[in-house]
Amino acid sequence: MVPFGRWIDAHGHLADPRWQGLRDQIIDEARAKGIHFFMQGGVGPEDWKLQEELSDRYPSHIGLCFGLHPYWVIDHEDDECEVALDVLAAQLGKALAIGEMGLDFRPHIEKDSRDKQYHIFEQQIELAHVSAKPMVLHLVQAHDEALRVFDIFGMPPQKGMVHSFNGSWGKAQDFLKKGLFLSVGGPVCRPENKKLHQAVKEMPLEYLLIESDNPDQAPPAYKGRLNPPESIWEVARTIGELKSLDPIEILDITTANFGRLFNGYSAQLKSSATPRN
Ligand SMILES: [Zn+2]
Repeated sequence: MVPFGRWIDAHGHLADPRWQGLRDQIIDEARAKGIHFFMQGGVGPEDWKLQEELSDRYPSHIGLCFGLHPYWVIDHEDDECEVALDVLAAQLGKALAIGEMGLDFRPHIEKDSRDKQYHIFEQQIELAHVSAKPMVLHLVQAHDEALRVFDIFGMPPQKGMVHSFNGSWGKAQDFLKKGLFLSVGGPVCRPENKKLHQAVKEMPLEYLLIESDNPDQAPPAYKGRLNPPESIWEVARTIGELKSLDPIEILDITTANFGRLFNGYSAQLKSSATPRN
């Protein structure tokens, strides 16, 4: 069992510049609500550095995740991406996971970047193979394309999670067959999101994670403000209703799942057993 109040937000961005000046406050507020560990989603080299600073401040509460997010890749030149990949390979040892990595083929995001996105995604899959770090995947309007890439490059040994899964049960099954965990966030709290509700009802509990994706993807209860990590309580409540379970059971189960996926998590807790906070 998970000790009461030792729950995990499986994905968020506490290093995001929008949290400037607010980080201690939102971390305190989440911890007061029993959320004690915050897994990050990497964006690019500047973000990794900020994550490290935060981790120095909260050594037993921050899960480092280094990777090149599709948005970062789209915004940077080819040579900058190659340099960042080298830095990533050199620094990945410090992180619990590699990501966010993936494909985002929404037309307003993509802007003729498909080839570049594929290339950087494939390079990170290779790094996941070599490093045996689990992957944090960002896949939007590119589920089938990503599955084809894994058919070619193989699934890395520690597999990973699809962050902010927001698809149908059919799509969920495709990922589950690959051994990937599915992380569900704020979008599940929208009453009209029937497709995701159906998927969550069918999903096996042992492959489920919950996330805030802070400061984005606020559930309706947090609409109009930056989404804080404590909002995973809303996600747990909604999933609990769909699964006929108590939200605390959802938090317990997803926290235990997190420990199974991120093999470095318990080692980090042990090595920071005397937290400075
Ligand atoms: Zn994210």
